[in-house]
Amino acid sequence: MTQLSTGDMLREARTSGTEMGNKVAAIMDAGELVTDDIVIGLIEEKLEADPNGSFIFDGFPRTLGQADALGALLDRKGAKLDAVIEMQVDDDALVSRITARSTCANCGEGYNDISKPIPADGKCVKCGGTEFKRRADDNEESLRTRLMEYYKKTSPLIGYYYAKGDLQSVDGLGEIDEVKAAIAKILD
Ligand code: AMP
Repeated sequence: MTQLSTGDMLREARTSGTEMGNKVAAIMDAGELVTDDIVIGLIEEKLEADPNGSFIFDGFPRTLGQADALGALLDRKGAKLDAVIEMQVDDDALVSRITARSTCANCGEGYNDISKPIPADGKCVKCGGTEFKRRADDNEESLRTRLMEYYKKTSPLIGYYYAKGDLQSVDGLGEIDEVKAAIAKILD
């Protein structure tokens, strides 16, 4: 399956300096949601480019408007969602995980200051790269806004997909392997 992360697509648009990327940069850094039109357009483009593909939507939809638009897009294609997976993590754990995370600037390998620190020799375990980056919005202030955006605009999707019979929840507090196994079980 192809992973479609709207966050990754938006970050890519920023780095490549497209007009849209420049427009959304400040919104993303503040932790607010970008407009539905922009993200729906990004998803539509990817679905059209691979008409027979199967997809994992990551970080999308995040509003009721996006969920309705996704439903309409899939209906037009005669496709459907197999499952909607909610990963449950309490806010304190989320904040401590996110403020500790970084990635290798070369290969994208993920690190965490507490659970998986960057090796003492300063080299990435996967590719040997020596530069690491943190997301501009992984700071406490942006995070507070991101959480508030979640509660105001995204959490209603839990009821929306529950009512459609699509919702499955997993405990996101466990180890990576445990969470992975719980998701695999749902997809099986
Ligand atoms: P993420 O990588 O999913 O944490 O997203 C990072 C940021 O990109 C979010 O805080 C939003 O500013 C923006 N973003 C990503 N996906 C969406 C979406 N589906 N709707 C609106 N904004 C989004």
